[in-house]
Amino acid sequence: MSTQDCIFCKIATGQIPSQKVLESDAALAFLDITPLAEGHTLLIPKRHAARMEDMEDDEIAEVARVLPRLTRAVLKATGAPGLNILQNNGREASQVVHHVHIHLIPRQAGDGLGFRWNATQYAAGRIDATR
Ligand code: AMP
Ligand code: ZN
Repeated sequence: MSTQDCIFCKIATGQIPSQKVLESDAALAFLDITPLAEGHTLLIPKRHAARMEDMEDDEIAEVARVLPRLTRAVLKATGAPGLNILQNNGREASQVVHHVHIHLIPRQAGDGLGFRWNATQYAAGRIDATR
């Protein structure tokens, strides 16, 4: 897909509107239109990259630089005591929009949002083989 057809590139260039939360030279944060919780925010690099491994160290560093400030803003605006920071990387990992984006999902105690974290165990020796 060309960047001309990329919905988040269009948001980054202002061709389609978004509810902006924070902006820097390299990054933009805006509200997710189908939120998992009120205040669900997406943080994107302004320059197109489909997946995390497509980005240069410096590029993602520029995006990540605003994460603490953005986290403070989302927590303050929503009054949520916590949030999940999530990046779906690839279709199999539930990535639907193929322009790198980091979700900030405000969480409340007992919000019922759920998050499966089905921890497993390594078979003997497997952890060394995996590293
Ligand atoms: P993912 O499954 O990680 O690719 O998530 C894509 C996210 O982008 C979803 O949560 C959508 O609700 C969100 N989204 C798609 N289009 C827009 C848009 N125009 N403005 C804001 N959020 C969007
Ligand atoms: Zn894009």
